Amino acid sequence: MSAHTSSPLPGNVAGTIATLQRLVAFDTVSSRSNIELIDWVANRLDDHGIPVLVQHGDEPGKANLFATIGPTDVPGLMLSGHSDVVPVAGQDWSSDPFRLTDREGRLYGRGSADMKGFIACCLETVPRLVAARLRTPVHLALSYNEESNMGGMRRLAAHLASAPVKPSACIIGEPTLMQVVVANKGAAIYRARVRGFSVHSSLRHQGVSAVETGAAIVAFITEMQRRLNDAGRHDGFEFPHSSIHAGMIQGGTAHNITARDCEVLFEVRALPGASAADIVAEVRRHCDQVLLPAMRAVSDECAISIEEVLDAPGLDERGNVHLAQAIMPLCRCERPGRVSFGTEAGMLQQIGVPTIVCGPGEIRVAHQPDEYVETSQLAACLDFLDTVTARLARGDLALR
Ligand SMILES: [Zn+2]
Repeated sequence: MSAHTSSPLPGNVAGTIATLQRLVAFDTVSSRSNIELIDWVANRLDDHGIPVLVQHGDEPGKANLFATIGPTDVPGLMLSGHSDVVPVAGQDWSSDPFRLTDREGRLYGRGSADMKGFIACCLETVPRLVAARLRTPVHLALSYNEESNMGGMRRLAAHLASAPVKPSACIIGEPTLMQVVVANKGAAIYRARVRGFSVHSSLRHQGVSAVETGAAIVAFITEMQRRLNDAGRHDGFEFPHSSIHAGMIQGGTAHNITARDCEVLFEVRALPGASAADIVAEVRRHCDQVLLPAMRAVSDECAISIEEVLDAPGLDERGNVHLAQAIMPLCRCERPGRVSFGTEAGMLQQIGVPTIVCGPGEIRVAHQPDEYVETSQLAACLDFLDTVTARLARGDLALR
């Protein structure tokens, strides 16, 4: 850490920064293991005598963590964060992204905002949670792979759904500048694979170009957006419709060979309540009924498949009305927000856990080079968690 600080920081802020420094130093890019971070957190909670469940992932080197502070036979408030971060490859950083660096009240580092800052605040609050002798417990949850396929929360949610006690509510600390977010769009990713038939392009009538079919799929997707614009509207979102977008296309080997293979990677961000699967069914139908018959007329080796890479549901504000009302005054939020980025919140709502999103830092800087969280945001989050602790201790915080 470089020395900055004109006036000394309150002890809990300084402690949080030290914890964040440690968390950022674990390189938990989603393609790598998160076990070292999970073990480190588990040991730290263990030091406070807190029972910790480390749930190993469906792939090696990955684990979720779930801990309960307070009684374990009563449902409580879950504070949840993902432990993984997006890659730094190809990004131009002013300082080492895995070494937290303080420049004028901004703490730079990969994951500082998204979302290790929130995790650090939660860990700093643990001793006070323990001392409060809560009757309504607080659950701490850390997941893996949020930034890739959301497999961690899918696994944890499945566990919680069948556990004897399920959390009564959840706050996910994605960066929202400590404002309550009550809705987010779904996040679904699909890969279309096209198999064409290769011939020399001088004989193109005997071949099928997978690249041309891929382009036809992209054109269909582009056209579909116009229909989605007519199909539904939610003015709470900056882009008020469900969206579909082709982000990558790859195929072919030479200008004079009809391409055998082509892949199109596309995403659907469905409005809460709308289903990405329904939207994609239209793309499938077009492939099966229009594109494929024309290809098969030339060669029966041709094929089109559409594979789901990820389908995370949106967060629907009809499911968290009471929780939002209870939490908004505690973080001085006057108007609940809605965001277009995907979160794990919808998966928890699906298992009957009302969930909102609220955490320190800004989504604007997440995933970017020189990602940072402001010290003042960490302080605001600590204040918020202290208030939550006090209210849970008094037993007058209605979570649902
Ligand atoms: Zn995030």
